[in-house]
Amino acid sequence: MTKHIFVTGGVVSSLGKGITAASIAVLLKRRGYRIKMQKLDPYLNVDPGTMSPFQHGEVYVTDDGAETDLDLGHYERFAEITCSRQSNYTTGSIYSAVISREREGGYLGKTVQVIPHITDEIKKAISKLDGDDVDIAITEIGGTVGDIESLPFLEAIRQYRHKIGRENGLFIHLTLVPYIKAAGEMKTKPSQQSVGILQEIGIVPDILVCRCERPLSEEHKDKLSLFCNVRRELVIEEQDVKHSIYEVPIELAKQDIDKYILELFNLHVNDLKMDDWIKMVDTVVNPKSGSVEIAVVGKYTSLRDSYKSIYEAIIHGGIANDVKVNIRMIESEDIEKHSAEKYLSGVDGILIPGGFGDRGIEGKIQAAKFARENKIPFFGICLGMQCAVIEFGRNVLNYRNANSSEFNPKTKYPVIDLMAEQKKVTAKGGTMRLGQYPCEIKPKTKAAMTYGSLKISERHRHRYEFNPAYRKAYEKKGMVFAGINPSTKLTEIIELVDHPWFVACQFHPEFKSRPLAAHPLFRGFIKAAAKK
Ligand code: GLN
Repeated sequence: MTKHIFVTGGVVSSLGKGITAASIAVLLKRRGYRIKMQKLDPYLNVDPGTMSPFQHGEVYVTDDGAETDLDLGHYERFAEITCSRQSNYTTGSIYSAVISREREGGYLGKTVQVIPHITDEIKKAISKLDGDDVDIAITEIGGTVGDIESLPFLEAIRQYRHKIGRENGLFIHLTLVPYIKAAGEMKTKPSQQSVGILQEIGIVPDILVCRCERPLSEEHKDKLSLFCNVRRELVIEEQDVKHSIYEVPIELAKQDIDKYILELFNLHVNDLKMDDWIKMVDTVVNPKSGSVEIAVVGKYTSLRDSYKSIYEAIIHGGIANDVKVNIRMIESEDIEKHSAEKYLSGVDGILIPGGFGDRGIEGKIQAAKFARENKIPFFGICLGMQCAVIEFGRNVLNYRNANSSEFNPKTKYPVIDLMAEQKKVTAKGGTMRLGQYPCEIKPKTKAAMTYGSLKISERHRHRYEFNPAYRKAYEKKGMVFAGINPSTKLTEIIELVDHPWFVACQFHPEFKSRPLAAHPLFRGFIKAAAKK
């Protein structure tokens, strides 16, 4: 029988519930258990695909083409698992399932209500994680305890644990123990109140994980244990880590959280194997081969979460090359106002990530030009590849005002154009080319060398593509079509000859990068940057 862990958060948002859940998964996995993970989000959008990155941060795409919460990225990177559509549900997706069923007559004769129909649907979503191939399922509840919209989810996990019993389900509550500077003290009251709200609903946390800036004293732990009704040894401290989020599992392991979880579940406490993870963290903290500076030219740079997987994958590229990576975040509109040179001089590599809409496009195109002309290692991802294609069209092929038809539908040179399959699409939610598709790589290219394989598959999220009518002209001038989809012939990877590293792809390699297995294209890009 699959055991279930439910993770809730209290006091404030942004406590790092996703990283905490993922870190617990790392430890349980490394004690020999098979893990699945899931996030339940209390907002009404059916998925985050229609939200601005400023609202929600990055949209993480799974192999099976779901647009999901960025916490799934933490799950995949930390626990080295692959998530799916069943790893993320929202209030919107739960309600839409119930309402469609009601319209089909699935509840004939009944009044459809939040309890039991919505809560049953949530329980059904949780039980999708059950299976012979899963020992422990971890479900994270988005939002903060006390929010009105979280209530049906909390009621559902209460009922779920009631059904499966204490030895098969447990509650972990992540809370904040703030340090009040003026008083020179840490305060446990917000945590007591947050647990109080949970108890009103009928949930008594088994484990309390306390986020804090400073160490928790014994006295604070005693107090939290007593007033939150949690066993003393299950009050776990999660202090801010110094260098890297990948330190969190190591810190939690020191307090035996994983051991206690297995004991509560009556599961055998196998040895914990962390050697490679500890070595990886050591490389992040003390890299042996110097440092590189990578410019990320985007338009959501003020919110770090907008490019979460990109930043992580760059760090993984650093780990693979034993170098420290400093990221210079650049707003592409600043380049437009001044010059590429002003913002990009001195960097060892330039990366242009994905994006939508025309704001900031010209700055990105200038950044691609700067990288091409100055032979600075360049990595374009999705929109970044499209900008590189536009730049090459304008400045090498002399196509005046070449553009993507996304930004200028009337351009004489639509070198990037809407995919044929997208032409009939009008609805916005979940209708892009999404998820994993195969790609064939041309031998002897940089992509072939760094992947070490000619058949790959990568995750996508786009509507526009390289316009194949221009392919011959581009090839003549030195663009290499290094990756092609075998059935649709869509361009997936381009490169330039006569450049140390100018590689761009239509897919999103950042989603498949892991700290212990950097994505080949990120590894290759950082290697080229380090060489420079
Ligand atoms: N806006 C572009 C498209 O839809 C690029 C998308 C992206 O970068 N994810 O094709």
